[in-house]
Amino acid sequence: MIKELICISCPMGCHLKVNTETKEVTGNTCKRGEIYGINEVTNPVRVITTTVKVKDGELPVIPVKTKTPIPKELNFKAMEVLNSIEIEAPISMGDIIVKDILGTGVDVVATRNLKKNIE
Ligand code: SF4
Repeated sequence: MIKELICISCPMGCHLKVNTETKEVTGNTCKRGEIYGINEVTNPVRVITTTVKVKDGELPVIPVKTKTPIPKELNFKAMEVLNSIEIEAPISMGDIIVKDILGTGVDVVATRNLKKNIE
């Protein structure tokens, strides 16, 4: 079967065709596209970026992301975990918000600093 994909490894967005049996990739301009195409039909992964609720912070939420990509099929469950938690300010950029999310070995970290609300 031929799977058609758009490579998201850089802004060029090459249109790839991947043979799911032979893992042959065409339409890529560089090696990264070949690797992306093969991964997409074998073990697709994504970095999750979202926000988490904050208690006593100068803002009500803080942006977070997985440190590295996790299996795409876990995205929904990971979002459920992150939607269900609330962390307490202050928070520093790089702080671990969830360690080893869903047993993936990947931590979710804060992507900015957030002070405590001093009102
Ligand atoms: S194949 Fe290479 S040039 Fe094309 S979008 Fe992917 S990374 Fe960019």
